[in-house]
Amino acid sequence: MDTNTSNGNVIHTQELTKTYKGVNALQGLNLQVPRNSIFGFLGPNGAGKSTTIKMLLGLTRPTAGKALIFEKDITQESLAVRRKVGYLAQDPRYYEHMTARQTLRYTARFFYQGPKDLIEARVEEMLELVGLEDKADRPIKGFSGGERQRLGIAQAQVNYPDLLILDEPAASLDPQGRRDVLTVMETLRKHTTIFYSTHILDDVQRVSDRVAILNRGGLVAEAPIQELLNGSGSSVVYNVTIKGSVSGAQARVARQPWVRSLSAKSNNGAVNWQVNVSDADAAEDQMLRLILEDRSVSVKSFGRKTHNLEEVFLSMVGEESKK
Ligand code: ADP
Repeated sequence: MDTNTSNGNVIHTQELTKTYKGVNALQGLNLQVPRNSIFGFLGPNGAGKSTTIKMLLGLTRPTAGKALIFEKDITQESLAVRRKVGYLAQDPRYYEHMTARQTLRYTARFFYQGPKDLIEARVEEMLELVGLEDKADRPIKGFSGGERQRLGIAQAQVNYPDLLILDEPAASLDPQGRRDVLTVMETLRKHTTIFYSTHILDDVQRVSDRVAILNRGGLVAEAPIQELLNGSGSSVVYNVTIKGSVSGAQARVARQPWVRSLSAKSNNGAVNWQVNVSDADAAEDQMLRLILEDRSVSVKSFGRKTHNLEEVFLSMVGEESKK
């Protein structure tokens, strides 16, 4: 088998492992990040997120296993990889007296030797992309946390990277700042793939397509976000609200082979059911019909329960990380 094949994934890790003097920071990570996704890399403090990012950027070497970025090995071809990757550190530092425009110009000159007007055009484009046109000529020392992060994203983007790695881009921001940063990330989706680490569940829920959950150096889940939120396999639950004389319907539904459990609660003259099913297709197909066999029963609502990411996260990594 050709182990350098990553099936069009931008990042592909195979048993990626890092040990620091006996501490297993990361153990056998297998991860695939599809092109043009916004991939949330989620986990509590100490889970191994920064260690993974450092290895992807070639800043530290794996103890075992390997990682490919654009099908190139990160240790053997680290220069070629880095040319196509933009990176925003957790707490970007700036020359505070410089303006946003000067800062971006300075960054752009690292990458382009071309004519001045081309550089200026790129700077202008970056300012617009992150919504800092109005602040372009103010010194950075007056910038809010969100504006600093957006400037950092602009810097990381200046050479049109095909992959953007952001380390906790919204962690230290107020709600408005976080919203602005997430909006910029959404805008960038059409240009690049974004891999970002975070411990903030709300942000992941808003902006990611796929999520990996890391805990104590190991992957505990990796899926499209909607799949995690809908529950899968053993945890699909339907919420049903019905009125009328419901005992016949309840008995009919409860004895189906695809029903694991059914709990009922009365509520203002209606009855709410939570039906845990083993086969969502069968439930979708048959449950309403079974209920409505009784003409005296009416259905007020019927739908699959969505979990919020916090429930999913806590069920996977345990209460100890609820800090
Ligand atoms: P996260 O970014 O998810 O908070 P890290 O990757 O920083 O997690 O850390 C994972 C584990 O590796 C932690 O137990 C941390 O203490 C340990 N670790 C990280 N860097 C080093 C280092 N340079 N030396 C020793 N241990 C480290």
